[in-house]
Amino acid sequence: MITPKEAVLRIEAKSLDQLLHPTFDNEALKKAHAVGEGLPASPGAAAGKVVFSAEEAKRLGKGGAGERVVLVRLETTPEDIEGMVASQGILTARGGRTSHAAVVARGMGTCCVAGCGALKINEEIKVFELGGVTFKEGDYISLDGNTGKIYAGDVKTKDTEIAGDFGRIMDWADKYRRLGVRTNADNPRDTKKAIELGAEGIGLCRTEHMFFESDRIPKIRKMILASTVEERENALNELIPFQKGDFKAMYKELKGLPMTVRYLDPPLHEFLPNTEEEIKELAKDMHLTVEDIKNKCDELHEFNPMMGHRGCRLAVTYPEIARMQTRALMEAAIEVKEEDGYDIVPEIMIPLVGEVKELKFVKDIVIETAELVKKEKHSDMKYHIGTMIEIPRAAITADKIAEEAEFFSFGTNDLTQMTFGFSRDDAGKFLDSYYQNKIYEIDPFAKLDQVGVGELVKMAVEKGKKTRPDIKLGICGEHGGEPSSVEFCHNVGLNYVSCSPFRVPIARLAAAQAALKEKQTK
Ligand code: PEP
Ligand code: MG
Repeated sequence: MITPKEAVLRIEAKSLDQLLHPTFDNEALKKAHAVGEGLPASPGAAAGKVVFSAEEAKRLGKGGAGERVVLVRLETTPEDIEGMVASQGILTARGGRTSHAAVVARGMGTCCVAGCGALKINEEIKVFELGGVTFKEGDYISLDGNTGKIYAGDVKTKDTEIAGDFGRIMDWADKYRRLGVRTNADNPRDTKKAIELGAEGIGLCRTEHMFFESDRIPKIRKMILASTVEERENALNELIPFQKGDFKAMYKELKGLPMTVRYLDPPLHEFLPNTEEEIKELAKDMHLTVEDIKNKCDELHEFNPMMGHRGCRLAVTYPEIARMQTRALMEAAIEVKEEDGYDIVPEIMIPLVGEVKELKFVKDIVIETAELVKKEKHSDMKYHIGTMIEIPRAAITADKIAEEAEFFSFGTNDLTQMTFGFSRDDAGKFLDSYYQNKIYEIDPFAKLDQVGVGELVKMAVEKGKKTRPDIKLGICGEHGGEPSSVEFCHNVGLNYVSCSPFRVPIARLAAAQAALKEKQTK
């Protein structure tokens, strides 16, 4: 009775979330007792026993005893990854929509409520209090990742199934959209899921996530705490096989689809040991005293780490990190091409650039190593080097940056943080007052602020194209999967959006709607 175009336009893109994630049983939800609310950081519904550590989640949850568990933490760190995989849901007291818990949970399609400031947690004695209720390990809790609501008890959930009609609508969407849709993924599991959901490649592989497994973290710690270049290089050499193995696994999963690999980005102290036990172990391994390790950790302390020694600044001070990552990536790409015949062209992305000279500095290091590896392996592999535009200065000087960058990917998480001047991890604590007082309508980390941040994106697109008309343009901040932001990306002429795997269908539909709306208004 209606045309496919009308059908595609009628569906609210965001509502696809309901098809892709578990929801609460309506009747059960009516009777549920809400105890609090946090940020709806990753959609879906989850119910399970409270656990306070990743180890416990792993022991009791998926892959362990097979129980349903909800991991409750002050905040998660990359070391919690295995426990997060084993959990039905994740609840944190701290952190915003771009916090570790939120980003990783969205990647896995796991329900997450983050930044619940009212949650008073004591991880040591395994107890938390919320809304006048005290929860101990093993008590049941339920989370709604769509609303951010937290319920006491075991609220019944129901799984959803994607039937044939879903595929039909998605095929129509793909026919109408002009924007490409890629995914943000840094492991083969999320990559596979994203491709099933229609991703056309990886737009952001955050390499730091690859360093947190138990066999790698000691090596990266040794690298960070090394006193000499030689020591650092030795530690990095130990990391090459791991990083290369990861890249190979990703390329094999991608089966020829493209991958943008973002070089090491977070402030280094995120990798440092936290517990006495870890410090002792590291001291032994490095033939240092516990005191030495503690002193070195103190030296790395920064007052404002997100504006500190991170991103390409790491490669400027420690070029050997970029060398290691380049060697691992090029060797992996060349080997997978040889083994499986995929036509791979690595896309190397340098993060947090604000000045063309710093990009050129890192780019030269990358080229030198890439060419060396090619020579060693008798390969003629091509590769592209580009950058993230995530610092306002990079957007303002995009014409200069484009002289060195073959592509731009807008990192709108950091670009939002730095344009507004508020922390992506803490802003949730005060933004409510802004919504109530109608200063801002909605969280700018969720929905792109087209008036301010969007202007910078537009400016960078125009300036970038002026210097390099064929420059490839994408977005890989969390906005890449939010429908109104996707429409904006279409309108300013980006080539693709990249978002977490479970938001790929939303982006496909939103991109089609943007293209159809544009035709209607012309
Ligand atoms: C960004 O800043 O938008 C981005 C994608 O990078 P990250 O979230 O890893 O800082
Ligand atoms: Mg960033």
